[in-house]
Amino acid sequence: MTIGRFAPSPTGPLHLGSLVAAVGSWLSARSDGGQWLVRMEDLDTPRVVPGSADEILRALERYALTWDGEVVYQSQRIPLYEAALHELRSKNRVFDCACSRADVGEEAIYPGTCRNGIPFGRVPRAVRFRGNDEVDDFVVKRADGIFAYQLAVVVDDAAQGVTQVVRGADLLSSTPRQIALQHALGYPTPEYIHLPLVLGPDGKKLGKRDGALPLPSLDDAHVRETLRAALQFLGIDVAIGPPAEMLRQALPIAAERRHQSVSSRA
Ligand SMILES: [Zn+2]
Repeated sequence: MTIGRFAPSPTGPLHLGSLVAAVGSWLSARSDGGQWLVRMEDLDTPRVVPGSADEILRALERYALTWDGEVVYQSQRIPLYEAALHELRSKNRVFDCACSRADVGEEAIYPGTCRNGIPFGRVPRAVRFRGNDEVDDFVVKRADGIFAYQLAVVVDDAAQGVTQVVRGADLLSSTPRQIALQHALGYPTPEYIHLPLVLGPDGKKLGKRDGALPLPSLDDAHVRETLRAALQFLGIDVAIGPPAEMLRQALPIAAERRHQSVSSRA
C-alpha cells in the first residue's frame, strides 16, 4: 500500500507552493487507495512560529486534505534521531567537525578538513555524514545541537513506513543525501516524485523564506479558487465546488496519470 506524507515546517502559514505539494502527494496516495500522513518538521526551533502548526492543520482541513493517524511532531522525536546518529557513529559513517561557517564558506563543498580528526586545539561543533562519490559530507547535527533536516526526515520516513515522497523540485538536491543515509542505516528507499515549483511573478520560487504569499484566507470562495489553482498547476482541471468534491473529481485523473507514468517507465 502507498503511504504518502506531507511534511511542512511550521514557520508561517501555508502558501501556494506548499499547498501544491500537499495536494500532489494527497492525490498520489489516495488515488492508489493509500494512506496520507502529516508530519510537522518543527526541529528548527529558532524559525518555528508559534501557532503556525495549528494554522496549517486548519488550512488542510478547509481544503479537505484529510490525513491518517496522529500528526507527528519532530520536536517530540529527538530520541529517535539520537539513536540513528549513534548507529551512524558506530558504523563510522559520521565524523565530528570543528569548522565554522566562515571556515567552510557559505556555498562551498566541505573540504574534508575534519574527516580524519579535528585539528589540534579546535572543539567539535557539528556532526557530518561521511560522504562518498554521490554525496558530500553534509551536516547531520548542527553546531547549535539541532538535528539536521536530512537525518530527521530519513528517520521519520522509515519509522512511519512512508513508501512515496511527493515534494517540490527545490528538494531534489536533498534526495541523494537522504538515499545515502537510508543505505547507511539499512532503511528502505521510498519512491521520490518531484513536482515543478510554483514560481512568483518575478520567476522566483515561492517560499516562506522569500516572503511568499501566504494563502489569502480560508473563506469558502478563496479556498475553492485556490484549490482549483493548485490542481491546475498539477495539470488537473475540475469544476469548482466544495473542496472534497473537487478532490473527488481529481482522483480518477490522478490515478490515470499514475498508470501512464508507470507504464512509460516500464
Ligand atoms: Zn570540519
